[in-house]
Amino acid sequence: MNKPKPLVAGNWKMNGLMDSAAELFRLDALVKEGQDAGCEILICPPFTQIVRFAGKMQGGKIMIGAQDCHVSEKGAHTGDISAEIIKDAGASHVIVGHSERRADHNEDNRLIREKTKAAWRAGLVAIVCVGETASEREAGETAAVVEAQLAGSIPQGAAASETIIAYEPVWAIGSGVTPTADDVEMIHGVIRAHLGGRFGDEGGGMRILYGGSVKSTNAAALMGIDNVDGALVGGASLKAEDFNGIIDAYR
Ligand code: PEP
Repeated sequence: MNKPKPLVAGNWKMNGLMDSAAELFRLDALVKEGQDAGCEILICPPFTQIVRFAGKMQGGKIMIGAQDCHVSEKGAHTGDISAEIIKDAGASHVIVGHSERRADHNEDNRLIREKTKAAWRAGLVAIVCVGETASEREAGETAAVVEAQLAGSIPQGAAASETIIAYEPVWAIGSGVTPTADDVEMIHGVIRAHLGGRFGDEGGGMRILYGGSVKSTNAAALMGIDNVDGALVGGASLKAEDFNGIIDAYR
């Protein structure tokens, strides 16, 4: 299978008041002014901004996604948002199983697997997050933890067109610290082998993003590693210039 087109995705987390549209417009302008990026670009704002952002970016190069979804299509789930509602609002992707949701909401692999199926059901691309904690890493359990998360979180029958993996070591998120290139290459190789073993050619074509303290200064080096097919970016996605500097890795 051909190498998949990389994706640079921004996760705004719980940031984005009404005036944040200005940042999106600035990013859009930088993307349009800049050399064509050889990657797809995605911004995942809070739910409240999706419909507006998707409307503004329609026909452009920036896609809009969500940060989570419920497993059900609709019904009595006060405060939750279904994948169908997200799709209806104009989004194309949804992040599931981010480590902050695993920690803050006790989300486990089984639930994340159901959320991934919900994303597919609604016609969204699921970005499934995996990654070890600092103590798991210190115990030498990184590969075992990530393989267990992949086995538990990705449903059978996954296709490359609707499934993206984000490897995000929990200790690297928001810390300014990243794994060594050798470590990233090793674990992305483990993930690729798992995907290939389970899904054959489809697994070979699935994008594996790296996430955790990606910045414009380290993006090119990280994106150049084997089996790194893009980035999931938190803090540095909030400022248009910073995020555009990461996209530069693919220009
Ligand atoms: C994230 O939370 O997905 C993330 C990668 O955050 P940061 O880039 O800020 O480390």
